[in-house]
Amino acid sequence: MNIRARLTLSFSVIVASILLLFSIAIFTVSAKYRQEEFYDRLERRAITTARLLVSVEEVDKNLLRIIDQNSVPALPEEKILVFEKNNSLAYSSSDQPEIDFSKELLDRIRKEGQIRFAKNTFEYLGILYRQGDEEFVAIAYAFDRYGRRKLANLRTILVTGFLIGIGIIVLAGRLFARQVLEPLAKMNRQVSKISAGTLSQQIDEGNHKDEIAMLAMNFNRMLYRLQTAFDIQQSFVSNASHELRTPLAAMRSQLEVVLAKERLAEDYRQVLHSLLDYTKTLVELTNGLLLLAKSGMDSQRLHFTNVRIDETLFVSQEELAKHHPSYHFQLDYDTLPENESDLTIRGNEQLLTTAFVNFIDNACKFSPDKAVYISLSNREKNIEIRFRDNGLGIAEDEKDKIFSPFYRGVYGQSAAKGHGIGLSLCKRIVQLHEGAIEIESTPGIGSVFIVRLPTIAA
Ligand code: ADP
Repeated sequence: MNIRARLTLSFSVIVASILLLFSIAIFTVSAKYRQEEFYDRLERRAITTARLLVSVEEVDKNLLRIIDQNSVPALPEEKILVFEKNNSLAYSSSDQPEIDFSKELLDRIRKEGQIRFAKNTFEYLGILYRQGDEEFVAIAYAFDRYGRRKLANLRTILVTGFLIGIGIIVLAGRLFARQVLEPLAKMNRQVSKISAGTLSQQIDEGNHKDEIAMLAMNFNRMLYRLQTAFDIQQSFVSNASHELRTPLAAMRSQLEVVLAKERLAEDYRQVLHSLLDYTKTLVELTNGLLLLAKSGMDSQRLHFTNVRIDETLFVSQEELAKHHPSYHFQLDYDTLPENESDLTIRGNEQLLTTAFVNFIDNACKFSPDKAVYISLSNREKNIEIRFRDNGLGIAEDEKDKIFSPFYRGVYGQSAAKGHGIGLSLCKRIVQLHEGAIEIESTPGIGSVFIVRLPTIAA
């Protein structure tokens, strides 16, 4: 059953149940009210008759019967009987009195003062009437033709109203369900038109307030993220293949040239050196790409342990020092946290070393003095690592771009070799450790890369 049918059904069942309950309540209250009113009338009739019979001497049984049968408030098929103390019938308004009122019933009336009951569509009222020492039991009974007819009419009206009401409710329910689901149906129509090639399309966001509008807005945001991811992936693939193809093409053309004719040993050596350089570049690039792919994994698939940031920084320095003896490293011990837990984070040591190597390498390679100044401090349960240099600096509009894969800064490109992968890798690694990177930089003066990572004390 679809949602529209389910909504219609639920709406109809709820409203029909309320209508049914309401109709039953009206009918029950009316029936009770009719009965009460009828008993009150029977009581008045019984008391009047008993009083006339017992208290007014001028009135005898025959006269009373004539009065009873002709009085205006007489009820249809009404009968009034008066019994004496010894249960003998003192008066009956009818010629054929119904005298099968048991002794027990009369005694109960005497004991309780008044009783009311219904039998075979007739309503009976028995009452004890006292006059001095004398005690009489008056019983009045009648059939409430008008009241019952009115009640039957009411029942017909209620049943007809209920049946017509159900029809209207089902129609209204269908309309209501259609109205409620229309925005969803509209959204569905729009979504079905979106394909991988048309991710830039947006769906209607309605009034920007209700739940469906929220869903549409979230969906649009998701489309935007997908589009961005798609674009990044596409540019990544084309950039990566370009970066790989360029050295490969150069290697191929050098090989073709050198093999075209017989060469001197020195020529071969030169070409082999050049090929070695290209191979190093290719190895670096593939390593970078592999690491980038690894950093794209979620943290659960990577092995996370407790990692001391200061120790990882030393390892990174040592690694760089091996290949770049000209680099200068300076660690500021003044702000170094004393507590071990303030220096320790949950993370992957190999990836963190890769990130620190990149930050330090960039600071040194883009600075004329080839120096990096590192400081460690604690800030609100985070460890803050600052990599400062007196280098080229980064232009304001490049601060975001340099984190994109293969992007190389305007100053950076000419100043040092690289592939533009380092910082995008650093960003992913820091994100993987739930940290953040900030840049403070002034072109021509220098840059500070600030990395914040949550410690185990957090
Ligand atoms: P690569 O170093 O291979 O160029 P990165 O992704 O590490 O790639 O850096 C991207 C760009 O960011 C660099 O080309 C450079 O322009 C800029 N950059 C990074 N670090 C620094 C720094 N410390 N000082 C100045 N520019 C920097």
